Order: sequence, then C-alpha cells, then structure tokens
Amino acid sequence: MGLLDVVPTGVLTGDNVRKLLNYAHENKFAIPAINCTSTSTVNAALEAAKKNQSPIIIQFSNGGSAFFAGKAIDNKNQEASILGAVAGAQYVRAVAKAYGVPVLVHSDHCAKKLLPWFDGMLDADEKYFKAHGEPLFSSHMLDLSEEPVEENIETCLKYLQRMAPMGCLLEMEIGITGGEEDGVDNTSVDNASLYTQPEDIWEIYSRFSKVTDLFSIAAAFGNVHGVYAPGNVKLHPELLGKHQAYVQEKLKTDDNKPVYFVFHGGSGSSRQEIDTALKHGVVKMNVDTDTQWAYWKGLKDFYEKNKDYLQSQVGNPEGPNKPNKKYYDPRVFIRASEQAMIDRIVDALDWLNNKNVL
Ligand SMILES: [Zn+2]
Repeated sequence: MGLLDVVPTGVLTGDNVRKLLNYAHENKFAIPAINCTSTSTVNAALEAAKKNQSPIIIQFSNGGSAFFAGKAIDNKNQEASILGAVAGAQYVRAVAKAYGVPVLVHSDHCAKKLLPWFDGMLDADEKYFKAHGEPLFSSHMLDLSEEPVEENIETCLKYLQRMAPMGCLLEMEIGITGGEEDGVDNTSVDNASLYTQPEDIWEIYSRFSKVTDLFSIAAAFGNVHGVYAPGNVKLHPELLGKHQAYVQEKLKTDDNKPVYFVFHGGSGSSRQEIDTALKHGVVKMNVDTDTQWAYWKGLKDFYEKNKDYLQSQVGNPEGPNKPNKKYYDPRVFIRASEQAMIDRIVDALDWLNNKNVL
C-alpha cells in the first residue's frame, strides 16, 4: 500500500497530516522541510518531490516570509512576514496538486518576540477555515525554547487550543539547539541544555495530548543550526529512542513511537545519525543551509561555464554582434539555481528514506 492509498495529493491538513505522519512512522522515513523564500524555491522543492515520488514540506521562516512579499514592505509590526507567509501558502495551494505529491505548508521558528507574526497567520487560518473547513497552513512552529520551560509549555498549550479545532498541527521546541538561526544566537550555551530529558518530553506529551494529538516536538539531542566546523557538541539521536520508550511506558501502549519528533539543525549529520533518528520516530527534518548553498552553487557554476557570454548584452567569442539573451534570461540562470537545489533536495529525500513512497 503506497502513501497515495492513504492521503490525497496537494496540501494536507488535519486528519490527513496525522495519516501521513503515522505512515512515515510505520515505514521509517522522514519528510524534509525545505525553507523557501520565493516561487522559484517553492517550485524547486515541489519538483524534487515529484521527481522522487515523495511527500514534501514547504516551510516559510519569518525572514523568508517577508522576503516572499518583497523588501519594500515595512515589517515593523510583522506586516510583511504575515503577508508573505499567507501569500506563500496560497501560492503552494494553487500549484501543489499539479505536481501530484502530498504537501505540508508550514511556518518555521517563531520566537516570543515574533508572536504577532504567529497571530497573523492564525487569523488567516481561521478565515480560511470558515470558508473551506480547513486551515490555510498544515502546521506552524513555535520556538519558545529560550524561555523558561513552564512558560514554553503554557504558551504552546494556549495556541494549541486555538489550532486544534481547525486541525492545524503545532511543532514546538524544547531544550536548546545550538548555533544561530534567523537572528537567534545560541552559539555560547552550556552543554547540558543541549540534551532534552525524557521527563520534559513526557511533561509536554501528557499535557498537549489532553487537547489534541496533532503536535510534534523538536527535542535537543546535540543538534546545531547551520553548518559549523565540528565542535564539542556530539549528536545523540539515540536519546530519541529513550524518550519514546519513556512515553510508551507511561502510556502503557503497544505503540513504540508515540511521539512525532522533528530534527532541527541536521546539516552535516552523517547518514548513520540520520538512520538512528528515523528509527526513533523523527518524521520531519529541516533543510535550509544546504539548499541555500546548492541554489548559489547552481548559479556560480552557470556563470563560470558561460562567463564569456555574460559580460554584455551583445558580443561573445562567436562574434562581436552575437546576442547573449539566452544566457542572461532569468529563466535560464535561475533555472540553473533551481536544478542544483532540486538535486540537493533529492539527496535529502534519499537520505531520509523518502523515495518512491507514493
Ligand atoms: Zn530549532
């Protein structure tokens, strides 16, 4: 039985999200969440999913959302980020079905100071829900991992109560992921807080599941956002197995993977580390830094290969009057970026055991 026997193509919400994540658990694969900043990067992510016959997650960060709407829009009250995230989600909804793959539309890390962005997206979800019976987005992420644990959980619960009736999933973060992401710098935190404890996972699970089962947890197991030279922090994805066992024991259930885990800061992880994470119920892995590099490298390689044709509108090694339009047309050089990004996403899909699963 393939995934399309379980869920439809296009943007999924509510029960279909639950079905997709359970299917991923059963078949030990994860879905990469690709950070997108434009229709070009959205299309590249969808094309990679189509090529690999895989489900995919399109994810908009706070800054990426503002960029999607355009740099001319003032973002002092999060207007540009709200507008851009909503426009991005609507764009994904407009084209996703044509690619023939299941898609989740998700918003990335939202720290405390960015909550007006979160509220704005939920307003759009509620409006969409009134008209269509489902939220605009499949899911959102709240990152209050920098706040005290109780405040983190309480705030998430408050939002969960607003999201659950629409069938919109909440991803939360506990413990501290090292590194720097979208302006939040965790490069100097102490080592102990880089590993979440099973008691914390149970605290979250037991309280959230009284509201809904549509939530996922990004736990810290030594992961670092972005790409850095190897440091003192070691990745311990096997800790996720301990969390699952702890929750299973508390619930007295046969389900050995009751928790949907999310892998942040996975750039540069080894294949073995990823396999361990998949085995212990990671259903989503964020991919950003590596696809940014791929998008740039696609353009860089294109330029280096065609340098002599990219110095002026007319005139190249074939003659002083030869036109260069077919090299500087954005459809050509942006396409080179897209193709490199597609190749990198296909690699991520393969690593996440997410190939030909439809
Ligand atoms: Zn994170």
